[in-house]
Amino acid sequence: MDEPTDYGFDTLQIHAGSRPDPATGARQTPIYQTTAYVFRDADHAAALFNLQEVGFIYSRLTNPTVAVLAERIAALEGGEGAVCCSSGHAAQLMALFPLMGPGKNIVSSNRLYGGTVTQFSQTIKRFGWGCTFVDTDDLDAVKAAIDEDTRAIFCETIANPGGYITDLDALAKIADAAGIPLIVDNTSATPYLCRPIEHGATLVVHSTTKYLTGTGTVTGGAVVDSGAFNWSANDKFPSLSQPEPAYHGLKFHETFEHLAYTFHAIAVGLRDLGMTMNPQAAHYTLLGMETLSLRMEKHVANAMTVSEWLEGHPAVEAVTYAGLKSSPYYDRVEKICPRGAGALFTVSLKGGYDACLKLVDNLELFSHVANLGDARSLIIHPASTTHRQLTAEQQVAAGAAPNIVRLSIGIEDPRDIIADLEQALAKAGSPGKATSPHSKGTPATSIQKKAG
Ligand SMILES: *Cc1c(COP(=O)(O)O)cnc(C)c1O
Repeated sequence: MDEPTDYGFDTLQIHAGSRPDPATGARQTPIYQTTAYVFRDADHAAALFNLQEVGFIYSRLTNPTVAVLAERIAALEGGEGAVCCSSGHAAQLMALFPLMGPGKNIVSSNRLYGGTVTQFSQTIKRFGWGCTFVDTDDLDAVKAAIDEDTRAIFCETIANPGGYITDLDALAKIADAAGIPLIVDNTSATPYLCRPIEHGATLVVHSTTKYLTGTGTVTGGAVVDSGAFNWSANDKFPSLSQPEPAYHGLKFHETFEHLAYTFHAIAVGLRDLGMTMNPQAAHYTLLGMETLSLRMEKHVANAMTVSEWLEGHPAVEAVTYAGLKSSPYYDRVEKICPRGAGALFTVSLKGGYDACLKLVDNLELFSHVANLGDARSLIIHPASTTHRQLTAEQQVAAGAAPNIVRLSIGIEDPRDIIADLEQALAKAGSPGKATSPHSKGTPATSIQKKAG
């Protein structure tokens, strides 16, 4: 980065990683829509391929637009380096790839984005990787789940879908003692609300699809490295500490030191797995990130107003927003994300499953989508959608029981958000009139629906 590292967050989110285009003076970062880059001569090409010189070869590995985004995300997270990927799920696999091998496992929080539970419980088995899910509030259970083949602890800062706050410092201590990295999915918090590296995380992963882009336009992901982990302290991470056979015997940690993980992620991870972000996506995300702090302030303020209103509504059983004094996670907000508890939480309705579906169907301003972190307010019923693949037991453990809806509060006028919830909750039926989860639309409810 050319700019002083003591710039504040609001400055870094606009400037970090970018400089006027050297060829044209263009102030905004151009979209370098190119696949390949001309080598100066044969020696230059050889030096690039040997990683003796850093430069652009081919856009599966690196691209100037994507590189600006990687540098900007690393700067905002306080990391040494970052690599961008085609989606948040790609970022999770990319994060694990240099650490894992057949027979190795991770210990993960059981409160996760639904797709991540599926990725960790099903898909990674095909690589011979395992995952043990634990309640990360039970620190003894976390310690007990770690064995000699464990290569990382994984959690979300503000965990899906309930907006629970994870005690990152406590997990980092356990990871440290075991000689393994803590990987934190910081998607729902963003670096504006929490910088996990300051709480001891080694790697931070993002779905840039969500708040970082903020407009619901492109999918993307990122892995940020703190640069502080000693990959050579034990023999657990041979891809980084030992000669890497997939890179003619190069020892990444010895050669690149604090940038070992980032170089490995590009030179081996992107090269061989190919989960590359395209420059168009990087452009949209760069535009979105320029206003990240402004949007997060408004998201948090709206979430506070809306969750307080919902908590007082007679049809509502409970609201999980950690910014509410009633939340068991309220005390953690100050420690982990003092600027606010994000804008993602769940609401359980006294009317159960049926009332949840009616609420979702009757909202007008809210969009019913499988997404979060948009400027728009969004709602989903996890048990029938994102968390559908889970067993009933996993749904409850994940905070996605059948009587729960997940809200992602947008940055609209909060009075309009509340008015929309008010009219839809009225149609979802008062608790006394609730129907059983299995009766599909009694006459009374169909009339209500037609009237609405
Ligand atoms: C959306 C999301 C993901 C997956 O990201 P994609 O970009 O959809 O692949 C992972 N973790 C969290 C917390 C998410 O919200």
